[in-house]
Amino acid sequence: MADQRPDWKQRAARLTLETRAFIDGRYVETGAVFDCVNPATGARLGRIAECGLPEVDAAVAAARRAFDHGEWPHMAPRERAGILKRFAALIREHNDELALLETLDMGKPIGDSTTIDAPGAAYCVDWYAEAIDKVPGEVAPVDPKLVGLVTREPIGVVGAIVPWNFPLLMASWKFAPALAAGNTVIVKPSEKSPLSAIRLAALAREAGIPDGVFQVLPGGGATGKALALHHDVDCIAFTGSTQVGKLIAGYAAQSNLKRTWLELGGKSPNIVLPDCPDLKKAARSAAAAIFFNMGEMCTAGSRLLVHRDIRDVFLAELQEAARQWAPGDPLDPATRMGAIVDGVQFDKVMAYIGLAGQDGTRLLAGGKAALPDSGGWFIEPTIIDCPDPAARLCREEIFGPVLSVLTFDTPDDAIRIANDTEYGLAAAVWTSDLATAHRMARRLRAGTVWVNCYDEGGDMNFPFGGFKQSGNGRDKSLHALEKYTELKSTLIRL
Ligand code: NAD
Repeated sequence: MADQRPDWKQRAARLTLETRAFIDGRYVETGAVFDCVNPATGARLGRIAECGLPEVDAAVAAARRAFDHGEWPHMAPRERAGILKRFAALIREHNDELALLETLDMGKPIGDSTTIDAPGAAYCVDWYAEAIDKVPGEVAPVDPKLVGLVTREPIGVVGAIVPWNFPLLMASWKFAPALAAGNTVIVKPSEKSPLSAIRLAALAREAGIPDGVFQVLPGGGATGKALALHHDVDCIAFTGSTQVGKLIAGYAAQSNLKRTWLELGGKSPNIVLPDCPDLKKAARSAAAAIFFNMGEMCTAGSRLLVHRDIRDVFLAELQEAARQWAPGDPLDPATRMGAIVDGVQFDKVMAYIGLAGQDGTRLLAGGKAALPDSGGWFIEPTIIDCPDPAARLCREEIFGPVLSVLTFDTPDDAIRIANDTEYGLAAAVWTSDLATAHRMARRLRAGTVWVNCYDEGGDMNFPFGGFKQSGNGRDKSLHALEKYTELKSTLIRL
């Protein structure tokens, strides 16, 4: 029987790319363009429309019109839900195409983009479509001469500025709850991975989302800045680095005090106690925690904290597990680790690896560029022993396949080292003791704590976000709807 598996290279060669911005219901050219490059080969994929001030103004004006005078915010929730469910179905129908765009654009393995990124976006849109007519308001227990209603209303025009590591997922975590709540949304994808968001715009239109309600403005930092400084934008939902997150907060302060929701970086600790129930499984999980998505994960388990008594055994298992993550062609379904997003990120990660040897740190595995003949940017799964938690390798977010290993002697030590960071996105603990698990989970200053697992929780009903400089607000779950609504008290004298 003939092999029925898709040949992704052939499909990639047949793809026609949409490269224009999507404003007020149609694709438009802009004055400037930027190159979009396949990080696995270094080849240019296309020239993408770069949105400047005129395009940002046009999109914000269209979003404003659609919000102030259009039907979207005033539709019966079930009607909006119906349109969003069609949108989700179209994303599902175009799963492989969207996944291919994602893989070509940012280098992640096709096996991941077809099973995680594209289906995850459809699931997210569906989830908020289903949720939106099931969130009632409140009647406040006020003086009996009054009726006190507490209701939620859409905020208005929402700008969603998103990163390149999960382009479809990060965008959908923002636009899905925002649209479901009745806002109009302008997505600003990363300049490193704009293709899937641009393609989504056509699917949104096909689903029946009215003009001006969903728009896409490709461009770099300047495009995002113009959006975040705009007086007619009511909210910026941002996912990206802590450094740019601080700028976004500043832009809001300099303009109209728009609501800002920031999902930022991390340096998450993965703690293995001596009573870890299964060292082999924990080691495989620790490898996946840092090497999945090439380590380009906000929740990457980038600091492994391992108890001194089990350190040698655990590190042997970990090195074995790391060998399973050798980089390969992202279009090969067998590949687990693909390409680093671009040369800039590659240089940044290699510079961090170059620190191994300083501050008592020592390279344990990897450390080199891989697949040098590909023309792209690949890095071996890398493990570095770091005796001193103050080393830069233990403190700064690398955003690549580089694991720093720390050793501790007591659970108190582990908590102190784990919490000694400006970040607070995620953490994990491996133990057989239920009380230890609960105690440690309570003391870890992080938005998500995993026990005896890492990165579990593909479900939409868990909030996702950070403590400290990992950000504010939460994506996913019903809590995310709070970000895209204003709370209103209406008091009626009887
Ligand atoms: P980045 O901060 O460089 O860019 C994010 C987005 O902001 C991009 O669209 C970029 O074009 C835009 N931008 C850049 N400068 C801007 C400016 N001055 N004004 C407005 N917009 C601007 O981040 P990145 O490199 O794309 O993504 C990696 C970062 O994202 C990591 O720090 C990672 O931890 C974080 N991240 C966080 C989460 C989370 O949910 N907490 C999820 C994924 C990624």
